[in-house]
Parts: sequence; C-alpha cells; structure tokens
Amino acid sequence: MNNHKSAARPAGGIAVSVQPPRDPVATSIVGESLPAKAPGGAARKRNFDKLCKRLRRNVGRAIEDYHMIGEGDRVMVCLSGGKDSYTLLDMLLALQKKAPVRFELVAVNMDQKQPGFPEHVLPEYLRGLGIPFDVIERDTYSVVKRVIPEGNTMCGLCSRLRRGNLYGYAERHGFTKIALGHHRDDIIETLFLNLFHGGRLAAMPPKLQSDDGKNLVIRPLAYCSEEDIADYAAVREFPIIPCTLCGSQEHLQRKQIKAMLKEWRRHPGRVENIFRAFTNIAPSQLGDSTLFDFERFELRRPENAEADTIRGTWVHADPRARKGS
Ligand code: SF4
Repeated sequence: MNNHKSAARPAGGIAVSVQPPRDPVATSIVGESLPAKAPGGAARKRNFDKLCKRLRRNVGRAIEDYHMIGEGDRVMVCLSGGKDSYTLLDMLLALQKKAPVRFELVAVNMDQKQPGFPEHVLPEYLRGLGIPFDVIERDTYSVVKRVIPEGNTMCGLCSRLRRGNLYGYAERHGFTKIALGHHRDDIIETLFLNLFHGGRLAAMPPKLQSDDGKNLVIRPLAYCSEEDIADYAAVREFPIIPCTLCGSQEHLQRKQIKAMLKEWRRHPGRVENIFRAFTNIAPSQLGDSTLFDFERFELRRPENAEADTIRGTWVHADPRARKGS
C-alpha cells in the first residue's frame, strides 16, 4: 500500500517512552531465539521461553480451528497501544515467518483525537519493527463528548464509531481480514455481561462476518489468557498508551464481572470450563424459539416398535419379528 506512513508524525500529548527496552530478555522478538544472557539467570529465560511457546501455540490453534488466515490474505492488525494489541502483532509477525502460507500484515492505529493522545508513540514503535503501518485520524472523541451526557460512560459509542471507521478502512483498502486483540478473558467477560445485563446468551466469536458481509474479523488471541498476555507485555516493555486518556471510566458492570472471575480463579478449571462451554454449545438444550420450530416437533417412533430404555434405541414390539430380523 502506498499510503502507509513512513515519516515521523509530530510528537505531542503525554510522554510515553519508545526507548528500546532495558531488559535484555525483552529485546527479543517472539519467533527469534532469546538472548543467551538474561539477568535473573537461566530460569527466567526458560520461563519466558515457555510463555512465548504457550502464547504462540494458543494463537496457532485458534487460527487453525477457525480458519482465520489463508494464502494471500491481507490482514489489517488493529493496534490501539494497549498490551493486547502489541502482543497480537508480535504473535502474528512470528507466525508470518514460519507459516506455510503467505499473508500480508499491516498495522493500523486509529487516532481518535483524545486530548493528550501521544501520536508519535505507535509510528516510532512500528518504524522500529520495520513493518508497514497506517494511522487513521478521526475525531470521534468530539462526537462522543457531544452525544454522551457528562459523567456517563462513553466506551459503548466510542467503540462503535471506532469499529465503523475500521471496517470502512479495511473495505476501501482491500484487507481480507481485520485482526483484533481480544483474548479469552475478554470473551468470557462479554459472555457474562450479556448474560447478567443483556438477557442474552452471546459473547465474542473468534471469527466474525460483519452484518453486511463486507468484512471478516478475526481474534487470534481467543485462546490466550489475559495473565499470559500481561506477563508477556511486561517483559517486552511495550510503550503502552493508556485507554483512559479520554477520562471515561471503565464500565462498572465490566469491573464487577472482572472481580467475579478473579474470585473464581481460586477454583481450578472453572474459568477454563466456561471457555470450553463457549466452544461446545448444545442449542437443542436451550429454549430459543427462533432456532427451533417447537410447534412442529413431532414423534418419530418406528411403527410396531418399542423403546429399549437401556440401549436408548427402538426394538420391534413383536418378538417373532425381532428373531427374524
Ligand atoms: S476508555 Fe475512552 S478511548 Fe477507551 S473505549 Fe472508552 S471512551 Fe473510548
């Protein structure tokens, strides 16, 4: 793409360091071998290696299970400046080096014009990685401020406007996939948000076709835990841009659900099982009348047969007929 920014954008806003990480372990990019001499000794290096392997394995599995990326795909990696999207980009870059299929990666950030947004941070970081990127500038902040009454959370509208702009950009620039940094815990939180407050059994799919069919969204971190991502981001010392520049508070309901899930982590396997349930749905065991025409349900018993309650099958009612069969 010829419109990818390669020149420096004026620095401004809050000071977020884009200095090279001080930690030698953090200087390694996933997919490359780690530096041999890390402070803290070999154990620390081993732990980081294990963490990288686990993240990469989970990303690889999610991509395979949901057929997220194929030959010739042009993937737009949405980079917000948070730990999740930085990790996503690292993982996809590592995968790109080893995958048997060829695909293109372009990092895209949306500058929503929040006051104090450090607009130099991501371009400097991405230039350092040497990968193509673009910055979409849209003043959605003013729109949100105008529409949402003071004191109310702005995240809902802000996210919708961001999504609309990103979808439009992907379509105009021929991207075949839009990669987002949502992880397993985001998915579970959304499931409970919808359950507790929306009266719906719904979460965030690892792969989504937009309503108008014009875009495909993928979430390659769907199998990764937030804890792993946070640990990885801490070692990599990403230049994090906080999502609180706009002054909006995190939604109270989401905070409560996060606290509930944190408490549940004391019960081994519970959160993992909830995620397994998300991928193992039995629609016929639920009560959505838009999925099944309950009125038309009818008996399908074979004629002259009776139920074998032990085997759960039908047997012929006449023993002589059974013999002959
Ligand atoms: S915290 Fe601010 S920038 Fe982030 S989603 Fe909410 S309103 Fe938008």
